Order: sequence, then structure tokens, then C-alpha cells
Amino acid sequence: MLIGCPKEIKPQEFRVGLTPAAAREATGHGHAVIVETGAGLGAGFDDGAYRAAGAQIVASASEVFARADMVVKVKEPQAVERAQLRRGQILFTYLHLAPDPDQTRDLLASGVTAIAYETVTDAAGTLPLLAPMSEVAGRLAPQVGAWALQKANGGRGVLMGGVPGVGPAEVVVIGGGVVGTQAARVAAGMGADVTVLDRSLPRMRYLDDVYRGTFKTRYASAEATAELITRADMVIGAVLIPGAAAPKLVTRAQLATMKPGAVIVDVAIDQGGCFETSRATTHQDPIYEVDGIVHYCVANMPGAVARSSTIALGNATMPYMIALADKGWKQACREDAGLLAGLNTHEGQLTNAAVGRALEIDV
Ligand code: NAD
Repeated sequence: MLIGCPKEIKPQEFRVGLTPAAAREATGHGHAVIVETGAGLGAGFDDGAYRAAGAQIVASASEVFARADMVVKVKEPQAVERAQLRRGQILFTYLHLAPDPDQTRDLLASGVTAIAYETVTDAAGTLPLLAPMSEVAGRLAPQVGAWALQKANGGRGVLMGGVPGVGPAEVVVIGGGVVGTQAARVAAGMGADVTVLDRSLPRMRYLDDVYRGTFKTRYASAEATAELITRADMVIGAVLIPGAAAPKLVTRAQLATMKPGAVIVDVAIDQGGCFETSRATTHQDPIYEVDGIVHYCVANMPGAVARSSTIALGNATMPYMIALADKGWKQACREDAGLLAGLNTHEGQLTNAAVGRALEIDV
């Protein structure tokens, strides 16, 4: 199979769909790989790294789209890219079709066989191609929150770990899933005093078993949340209700009960955010202040660490990409129901029930 990787063209997207390591794996399996020149530069991979992995560098994205049997990307195809997709071609990337009728219409019109990272599932029913980006965002959250806590950024001027004789920052993490657990681990690793709130007792049992002594857990009642945020130097929002907007767990009025200069990092902002006062920000202008509380609400946090994110995503997508290339998409999906769950469009048909419901299109 001929696998192609164009440079990402969505603004501020520095990741790349194919790492040199994945390219080497594909060529090792006897596949041909073409990569648009400069595609990996934002993630720190030059053309030479791909050539060394056996890939061919091509001058333009249009050559990738014209020649590739399978196009591997990161972000959903933009309009100019969608116009180049065709029947018989596989597109393997994040799509997020449910809120995007224009993209869905174009993919259906193209006839492309589109497999979306975000709907691929594993044996446990979790989302293996979303988890790496949640891990990145979770581990990044205390890092950006610590920066925002610095005085010059509007924060309280509190050091995460304190120093001998001075107490550490108090960090509250709302939601103890993938993001929340990684955030809590890093905040605790920086020396902060960390409490994780969740509504799932099985999840809290797991966290208590594994991380007792590293951070505390509390049931996420409205009362516990209200009490804990008054003591917090940093509150990290990391809740998810699958398929729904994030619930608003802290109101604007409650900001007045928090310490002036405390920091909110709302990782759940990509689902609307779990603080009433959250609004999406960008890496260029990541923070703003409401009622003396500093808010960090970047919707694509992994983009800040494009190299780590690219490698993490590549590690997760690589076995699926190789299965698709080795077996063809039909056989690969026959053998792996989780990969089949990733199939969103094929020859003009929508094939994902949740997307169909969201867009009121027959599946
Ligand atoms: P997850 O499903 O692994 O974890 C979510 C957790 O929230 C679960 O443990 C669940 O029990 C808990 N929860 C649900 N409702 C709750 C409530 N009312 N109170 C307390 N806990 C509650 O999800 P995840 O992968 O950790 O993702 C968390 C959020 O981070 C999602 O909104 C996701 O889209 C977002 N995210 C954002 C970025 C970014 O760049 N901003 C990157 C990755 C993920």
C-alpha cells in the first residue's frame, strides 16, 4: 500500500500524522511511504529523518492526496484537503464529525473511507487514540498552571512545592479520569498538596489503591467542591461526560469565595468547560482574569508540546495504521471491532451511529 502524509495546514497545528518511526515500521512491512516536504518540522523531524526511514519526500500536499492509498493526518481535513479526497482512498485522522456538518457533507461527497481516531475503541471500551492526548494535556496542566500562578502572570505568587518552612500549593483536580490522574500525579510530583474529586466510586477506589500517599480523593459533591476551591491555589477541570457538554461545576459567584490570584486550568474547555466563567483561549493568549481568578482555557493544549504529542499519538496510531496497510481496511475492521468503530464514512455512506444521530443523517 502507498501511505501518504501531508503537512498539517490548520492554523497553529505543529503535529504531524506520521513519525519517522512509524514510517520505518511501514516500509519494514513492505509499504511505500510518501511525506510532504517539511511535514514534520513543527514536531522536530526533518525530511532527512523520513528519508532515513525509507520514505520518499514529495514537493506538495496535492501529490500526497493524488497518489496515496491511505492518507494519515492529525487534524480533520480542511476544505482544500477534502476537495482532493476520493473513493477507494483511506483517510486515517481525527475527524470530530458530530459538530461539523460541512466536513461530513464533503467527506460523503468524496466517497473516501474515513476512519476517525476519536471513535476507535479498545477491548475495554475506552478510546486508545484519544488517551495519549488526554495524557499530554493532563501532565501539561500543572505546568501551565504553575506558570500562571506566578505573580507576573496575575497569579498568587505561590510556588507549587513550597520550600523548607513554607507550605506547598493546594491543587484541586475535578475529574479523576485520564487527564485528572496525570494532572494529579505531576502536581504531586512538583510537591503540591493534591486532592482529586470524582463522581465514580470505582474510579476513586482505583485511584486510592494506586496513588494513596501521592494524592487524596474526595467524592465530587457540590458541597465538597465548594469547600475545596476556597482553599485551592489551583483548580484543574478534567471532567468528561461522554457525548455531552461538560457540566458547569463552579459558578461565577463561587469565584468570590476563592483566594485572589488562584488559578483555574480548564482542560475540559474542548467540551465547553466545567467552570461558568471559562471561554476558550489560544496558545498566543492563553490566560485571562475574571473576578481576580486567573483562567487558562486552551482548547488544544497538546499543540504546545507538538513533539511529545506527535510521538505519543504516533505510538498509539501505528499498530492500527500497519493493520490497515497490511490487511486492507475491510479485513482489518473484520478482525478488530474497535477499529471498525472508527469507520465514519465509506463510499458516500455515514457509518457511525452517534455522528448520524448528531447530524440527523441516516446511517
Ligand atoms: P475521562 O473519561 O478519562 O475522565 C473523566 C472523568 O470525569 C471520569 O473519571 C468521570 O467519572 C469524571 N466525572 C464526570 N462527571 C463528573 C462530575 N460531575 N464531577 C467530577 N467528576 C466527574 O476523560 P479524560 O480523557 O480525562 O478527559 C477529560 C476532559 O479533558 C474531556 O473534556 C476532554 O475532552 C478534555 N481534553 C482536553 C484537552 C485540551 O487540550 N484542552 C486535551 C485532551 C482532553
